[in-house]
Amino acid sequence: MVDLRTQYERLKADIDNSVAGVINSTAFIKGPDVGLFEEELQRYLGVRHVISCANGTDALQIAMMALGLKPGDEVITTNFTFIATVEVIELLSLKTVLVEPDPGTFNISVEAIRKAITPNTKAIVPVHLFGQCADMEPILELAHSHGIHIIEDVAQATGAEYRFSDGTVKKAGTMGTVGCTSFFPSKNLGCYGDGGALFTDDDGLAAMIRSITNHGMKVRYYHDTIGVNSRLDTIQAAILRVKLRHLDEFNEARLKAAEHYDRELGGLPGITVPQRSAFSTHIFHQYTLRIEGGRRNSLRECLENEGIPSMVYYPVPLHMQKAYLHLGYGADDFPVTTRLSGEVLSLPMHTEMNDEQLSYITGCIRSKFN
Ligand SMILES: *Cc1c(COP(=O)(O)O)cnc(C)c1O
Repeated sequence: MVDLRTQYERLKADIDNSVAGVINSTAFIKGPDVGLFEEELQRYLGVRHVISCANGTDALQIAMMALGLKPGDEVITTNFTFIATVEVIELLSLKTVLVEPDPGTFNISVEAIRKAITPNTKAIVPVHLFGQCADMEPILELAHSHGIHIIEDVAQATGAEYRFSDGTVKKAGTMGTVGCTSFFPSKNLGCYGDGGALFTDDDGLAAMIRSITNHGMKVRYYHDTIGVNSRLDTIQAAILRVKLRHLDEFNEARLKAAEHYDRELGGLPGITVPQRSAFSTHIFHQYTLRIEGGRRNSLRECLENEGIPSMVYYPVPLHMQKAYLHLGYGADDFPVTTRLSGEVLSLPMHTEMNDEQLSYITGCIRSKFN
């Protein structure tokens, strides 16, 4: 699904040099590269604060802690996402309110959010799924008019851009109260282990986030709030500094591969290629087809027999996951999510795909669907 090796070989001299530099300095925790990476990412995103942490799941949890959400507060998010998004809501004893995605873009439905808001709603977590922004303008309007925080889950969309109706363009993760991302190796901006970060323009919130990532202290050994231990390793920060310089080029390469897929698979009966929304760029963390007529699993097997990997993101809606049955939803409560779970198929997508690989994959699919 991803080819981290070829990418590494292309960047090897710079990466090896940066990693060796950290090891030579022995500044493994909070070395200079951590602060420098935060500043460079801040500049890239056009946001006032970037605070790094240990992974994307921590980033989401820290955001909810820093906003002072209390047990019972309702948090609205999409049923069609990776488990991390709801896991942290439940860990903090907040109340998870799941809503349907839009079947075209896979992103959270604005209408569904509107219907789910109650006086107890304290936050909305739009997930910019598969590399394309959720429709943030109406979501922000809803949030402002109800005094609700927006926590953007940017794990799959670092570098994507949203265009507002007045022409303003903003990077994913810089529109809401706080943005949370992951640097897991396969993400668009990935390190060589775990990593994550939070973005915000709010100075007070940034200070609170920084304190929570560091055991709730501002002055050493004086603990003002309950915190966690969540740090980005210096070695990972050094790697990310190299890779951030290539992020736009990485995302461009993904887009090229997606265009090849679109061209070859676009007209096939029973296959729907990913819908592009007018308001967002798509940086294709995943290239995800919808396969109708119950043929998804047989296509997947067929690809496997030809040595082509594919994945189902995500096979089971969150409301049907064993650990989340206590949320109390009925099996039929989310027809859109349920249908998508049965139809989606993600194809190999990374920065190193060549025409030969793409043609082999699309040729195999075309032979089955023509
Ligand atoms: C990857 C991912 C996360 C979690 O990131 P980790 O760094 O693996 O903890 C959260 N949300 C979404 C949508 C993701 O894809």
